[in-house]
Amino acid sequence: MTQERRRSVVVQIGTVRVGGSNPIAVQSMTNTDTADVEATAQQVRALARAGSELVRVTVNTSEAAAAIPHIRDRLEQLGVSVPLIGDFHFNGHKLLREHPACAEALDKYRINPGNVGRGSKRDPQFAEMIETACRYGKPVRIGVNWGSLDQDLLTRLMDENSARSQPLPAQQVMRNAVVLSALESASRAEALGLPHDRIVLSAKVSGVQDLIAIYRDLASRCDYPLHVGLTEAGMGSKGIVASTAGIAVLLQEGIGDTIRVSLTPEPRGDRTQEVIVAQEILQTMGLRAFSPLVVACPGCGRTTSTFFQELAQRIQSHVRSRMPEWRKTYVGVENMTVAVMGCVVNGPGESKHANIGISLPGTGERPVAPVYEDGAKTVTLKGERIAEEFQEIIEQYVARKYARREAP
Ligand code: SF4
Repeated sequence: MTQERRRSVVVQIGTVRVGGSNPIAVQSMTNTDTADVEATAQQVRALARAGSELVRVTVNTSEAAAAIPHIRDRLEQLGVSVPLIGDFHFNGHKLLREHPACAEALDKYRINPGNVGRGSKRDPQFAEMIETACRYGKPVRIGVNWGSLDQDLLTRLMDENSARSQPLPAQQVMRNAVVLSALESASRAEALGLPHDRIVLSAKVSGVQDLIAIYRDLASRCDYPLHVGLTEAGMGSKGIVASTAGIAVLLQEGIGDTIRVSLTPEPRGDRTQEVIVAQEILQTMGLRAFSPLVVACPGCGRTTSTFFQELAQRIQSHVRSRMPEWRKTYVGVENMTVAVMGCVVNGPGESKHANIGISLPGTGERPVAPVYEDGAKTVTLKGERIAEEFQEIIEQYVARKYARREAP
């Protein structure tokens, strides 16, 4: 059972509200050269269309900062209003100062307190970014990353630790430093005038156990909304599993107001995969519904042909491709479940639990596929066109079952 959501203040980011009882938002980040306006706008659009509710872009050079207002304009032309977050590091203070149109066009700034400048430059450069955020009325995410942890703070904590009669393990000191870096930076930002309800915190690490321990600590010590994600999660199934393991444990404990799954894409891979995985984490945990769930059995020796896998994949793709249109037209269609099952062992039972389900014939079974709608068998398909006919049945079911939205 999901625990009660941790209490946090609400932060307005462009058109999106995060924290409090607002839905846990899905975030993503582009990997285009931000200075390339068209490529970045198109990727932001793709991420937003996939369901990303906040999109972050790196602002690392003068050209990138100069491009931000043009990206915003281009997105408006494309009909995309997703909030844009600028990711700033060493030269963020300078870029925001020299490009006021960038400072204005962004909906939030992400500042990494470990990367705002070294030594005596750190505090004034951090202050300049916060003051810019105050001047333009923008919220800030204080995003600590332990790959770029504030070394002065870490050294201070290590020294204090070694002076203890019973020093803590080095890993614990590192975790404490990550949490403290986020909390102290947030306090400094508030002292500089940034309102309490314009701050989001994150403290990303690459180990699942560290992530869980750090966010539990952070959650117990503040009421800022928390952005949760594993950094450098990796590629493919490793990245998905590690992110899911860490994020899911925290969500289950009510911790997390926005999430990002930081996957390394395959070469020329689809950047939107990270959005789909984030949505699937939230949906499979019963926290939000984005798209009808296709439940499929894993298949086994009873399904010796590839027809079952092909049908499951085809139905999944069909549902996903139809969803933008369905969402516009029908109320609640994202809650639908579709079962595609490989044989009669569990097929009819699982199909009856879904809104609509099909149970294919296993090896040696009669070549017929009963279809269930709302728990009752409605038709039995057979022959060459089972896939097409099942898709048509799903379309008819959606049109019949879900109320049409009223025209705005
Ligand atoms: S439903 Fe049938 S085909 Fe699917 S895993 Fe179970 S026994 Fe195997």
